[in-house]
Amino acid sequence: MTDLPLIIAAAHFAADRHRDQRRRDTVTPFINHPLALADILVNEGGVRDPLVIAAALLHDTVEDTETTPAELEARFGAEVAGIVAEVTDDKALPKQERKALQIAHAAHASPRAKLVKLADKIANLRDLAARPPLDWPQERRDGYVRWSAEVVNGLRGTSAALEAVFDAEVAGFGLA
Ligand code: ZN
Repeated sequence: MTDLPLIIAAAHFAADRHRDQRRRDTVTPFINHPLALADILVNEGGVRDPLVIAAALLHDTVEDTETTPAELEARFGAEVAGIVAEVTDDKALPKQERKALQIAHAAHASPRAKLVKLADKIANLRDLAARPPLDWPQERRDGYVRWSAEVVNGLRGTSAALEAVFDAEVAGFGLA
């Protein structure tokens, strides 16, 4: 499977697996998030690599649904499954440890995984700005923005366009 068939199959698979899930605001369908990543990559980052776009659409299926890496590999190939594996947190670990590992691992990721990560961080900051979780006090929101910026520092040198988009999102929060 290549290009458009691969991308559409990935979008459909992700929509099916995330079908019962909502984003943190509890209202937005979860699939809006992977679709946002694909849009950011293609239309703001100029990315044309179908493996990156497919991996972006699938990036939360292993972390947040019953989907296994082997299943992704069988359906979408080892490269796509590998990119998803690189951006999947180990949910067996405590949250703080996972957050620290994202910072530690960012610089060592493959270029394709770095693109997906960059788009993920951009999409999450946009969601935070547009629809902040009601139970997040300002301090928690600011902490999330600062942590995202630390992760992205390890991803730099990957896409000047996406890094500029990310920086503009961070600037919009007006942190001291
Ligand atoms: Zn995500």
